[in-house]
Amino acid sequence: MTDKKDKLAQYKKKRDFRKTAEPAGETAEFSWADKRPIFVIQKHDASSLHYDFRLEVDGVLKSWAVPKGPATDPKTKRLAVPTEDHPLEYADFEGVIPEGEYGAGTVMVWDRGNYETLTKDDGGSEDDSIEKQLARGRVTIQLHGEKLAGGYALIRTGKGEDVRWLLIKMDDKNADARRNPVSSQPKSVKTGRTLNQIRKEAEKE
Ligand code: MN
Repeated sequence: MTDKKDKLAQYKKKRDFRKTAEPAGETAEFSWADKRPIFVIQKHDASSLHYDFRLEVDGVLKSWAVPKGPATDPKTKRLAVPTEDHPLEYADFEGVIPEGEYGAGTVMVWDRGNYETLTKDDGGSEDDSIEKQLARGRVTIQLHGEKLAGGYALIRTGKGEDVRWLLIKMDDKNADARRNPVSSQPKSVKTGRTLNQIRKEAEKE
C-alpha cells in the first residue's frame, strides 16, 4: 500500500489550511455509511459549477470533476475530469472555500452512500478490485446513495494529454431516462440546504 501522506501531497500543496476550512486530516468514520467503501458527490459552485464524484479507494477519495453532474439515463455520457486524491474526511465537507483559495466557492454534499465493485458477467479470472479497474480504465460499480442507485461505469478514453473519462449510467432497473436528479433534487443530503443557504450561513459565521 502506498503511503497515504504521499497520495495527498498534491491536495495539501494546493491549500492553505490556515485560510480554508477544508479538512487536512485523515480520519475516516462516517455515521451515515453502514457499509464501506463510501462514495460522495459534492456540488461545487467554483469558477464554474460542477459535481465532484469521489470514491473511497485504499484510504483516499479518488476524484473526478463532472461538469454536468451524473445522469440516470444510460444513453447520456457525462465527461469526468480526474482531479487530485482527496482525504477521506473530505466526504463530510460542506461549506465555503474562501476567495483567493484553490477551488474558491461553495461546496454541498449532493449525494453519498456506499458502493460495491461489479464483477464481470463472464465470471472471468480478471481481478475486479477497484484498484485494478482504475488501472484498466474501466470501472463498474453499484452505488447505494440517497439520490443515485444502481450500476455506473467510468470509462477512460483517449491517450496522453487527451485522456478523459466518461461517467455513464448502466442499463439496469435503476436506469431512468425521465429522471434528472441534478435539476429535480438540487439540495444537500447532509443538511437539506441549497447552495445559497450554505453560502449565506457561512457569511454569518
Ligand atoms: Mn471541485
